[in-house]
Amino acid sequence: MSEFDLIRTHFARLGAGREDVVLGVGDDCALLRPPPDRDLAVSIDTLVAGVHFLADVDPGALGHKCLAVGLSDLAAMGAEPAWATLALTLPAEDSAWLHAFAGGFAAVALAHGVALVGGDTTRGPLSISVQVHGLVPAGQGIRRGGACPGDLVCVSGTLGDAGLALRGLLAGEPIADFLRARLERPTPRVALGLALHGLATAMIDISDGLAADLGHILEESGVGAEIRLADLPLSPEVRDHLARTQDWSLPLASGDDYELCFTLPPGQVAGLPALSDRSGCALSPIGRIRAGSGLICQGPDGSPWTPERTGFNHFPDPG
Ligand code: ADP
Ligand code: MG
Repeated sequence: MSEFDLIRTHFARLGAGREDVVLGVGDDCALLRPPPDRDLAVSIDTLVAGVHFLADVDPGALGHKCLAVGLSDLAAMGAEPAWATLALTLPAEDSAWLHAFAGGFAAVALAHGVALVGGDTTRGPLSISVQVHGLVPAGQGIRRGGACPGDLVCVSGTLGDAGLALRGLLAGEPIADFLRARLERPTPRVALGLALHGLATAMIDISDGLAADLGHILEESGVGAEIRLADLPLSPEVRDHLARTQDWSLPLASGDDYELCFTLPPGQVAGLPALSDRSGCALSPIGRIRAGSGLICQGPDGSPWTPERTGFNHFPDPG
């Protein structure tokens, strides 16, 4: 199959049909028509075999994940997903693999109203870049820098599931379906991001671990925070693991959770259950923003607790 046949077979007309796509896959550029009263939210992520995923991963799961992680960034700005482009570097043309990959990508795209409007296809070591484009009411993107002393710190879903799954996979152990799905098919919290307009003072998605990502909110906002480990939302699997190991780095510092961490003015706490219903995920208050800087963790017994390592860093300081 030629490169052009491959693109036509697997990637033309993939995802949602949208009226704002003037021209999709097939020409030198896509032509898109954003509404005049919106800001365009743009983000790109690259997934590299052996770094971000194991090379033998289910291609359908990979198609799902490479779009879902981009949509998680849009969710974290309060943006509504619209378009995506896909740059694929493939070691070989494998139709069955491509079919499964495109299927996983398409399911997420359809679920969130995203049209795949273009991309690039090259030969080389397996690597995937997805750029996502979303729309947000002009001036209303929810940034990292707005947290104020007294605000509640909240997170969606549960923390540490993907990290526990990865440890199991790397150790060659069988892992529960729930944990595998949390690692390989994350759910971008798009509805929550949209529901937080006018409520959240700051927001980020948790891709590198809560401690590191909440740390970005604190730095950008010029504040500190205190969180209670006993209030971290944990699945039964992670809770069991913690009971055995006391290894709090799992919910605090392992990556790939793709939950949202956001801050709310204190008056909003009563609205959390309704917000949770509306957005289809659990929401947990885990602490408070305070004046100053840095993250203080209160251990399960009430004593201060210092994390041993923070999130993943591709370019750590030498030495
Ligand atoms: P050009 O050489 O003009 O850059 P390409 O040959 O790279 O064009 O791509 C031809 C068309 O197919 C373009 O519209 C491009 O956006 C689209 N395309 C290429 N690869 C992909 C892909 N993996 N997914 C979606 N669209 C793709
Ligand atoms: Mg090209």
